[in-house]
Amino acid sequence: MTRIDLHCHSTASDGTLTPAELVRAGLEAGLDVMAITDHDTTGGWAQAATARPAGLTLVRGAELSCRWYGVDPAIPLHLLAYLFDPAEPRLAADLARLRTDREQRAEKIVNLLRADGVDISWPEVSGYAAGGSVGRPHIAQALIRAGLVRTTSEAFASRWLGSRYFVPKADLDVFEAVRAVRAAGGVTVFAHPNATVRGRIVPDRLIVDLAEAGLFGLEADHEDHTPEQREHVRALAGELGLVVTGSSDFHGTHKTVRLGAFTTELAAYEKIVAAATGVPILG
Ligand code: AMP
Ligand code: ZN
Ligand code: FE
Ligand code: FE
Repeated sequence: MTRIDLHCHSTASDGTLTPAELVRAGLEAGLDVMAITDHDTTGGWAQAATARPAGLTLVRGAELSCRWYGVDPAIPLHLLAYLFDPAEPRLAADLARLRTDREQRAEKIVNLLRADGVDISWPEVSGYAAGGSVGRPHIAQALIRAGLVRTTSEAFASRWLGSRYFVPKADLDVFEAVRAVRAAGGVTVFAHPNATVRGRIVPDRLIVDLAEAGLFGLEADHEDHTPEQREHVRALAGELGLVVTGSSDFHGTHKTVRLGAFTTELAAYEKIVAAATGVPILG
């Protein structure tokens, strides 16, 4: 059996393994195929490619911060993008803008916390991100260090980063993101589309429209989906002719999920690879 995990984060965003450690851990976990999908960046690709051990196939990708503006307030969502050309100017500019905004937003959140007497600082949080895409897990790390919460999950409670100290990001319009990734030769998969534990989810009719706009797949098997949600996503993908994926969404010690906890079937993976023209798989 081929073990395929198409959604993993490194220190290029809010994971805790470096890209080199991530690919080695992938092989050790028994994976045959692993995708590196950091938030809004391809910054981990080069190191992951160089460190890739023989026996592990690497799919280069990213997880794009998007939003659906069809309702008010707009709903944030994540698109996995695979095998796109990182030099395609429009997509590269979009990613750069998202990363810059992530820094400004994280600094705003830190300032809100500081204004309430919380003893963390932007240099500390920025240091945890260490040049990668900064995210709330890095702020959570500072809250843990300050002794205010014990775990990343606790830091996402409504009294902290979930609501009281929440500042939105400047996300991409989801339809524009699907088109931009396609224009860069890549393939898009809607990450954890029914994960109500994370907040509001989009209606199925949006997924119908996205499929028409070129969305290629839906991530059904994910720890944030209940068994019923996985089944619903799988059935919807079937109706719309979209591929179904499953993945760990590994974040190192920022989450408890393990590499390969959920996997993608070989046929779905092969369809993704066959549809992409931006960069090749490695291995
Ligand atoms: P951000 O991208 O800065 O908005 O932060 C969201 C990131 O935090 C996502 O990548 C999630 O993986 C992670 N996250 C969201 N909710 C939780 C939670 N309850 N516990 C741990 N990590 C979370
Ligand atoms: Zn993350
Ligand atoms: Fe996500
Ligand atoms: Fe993710």
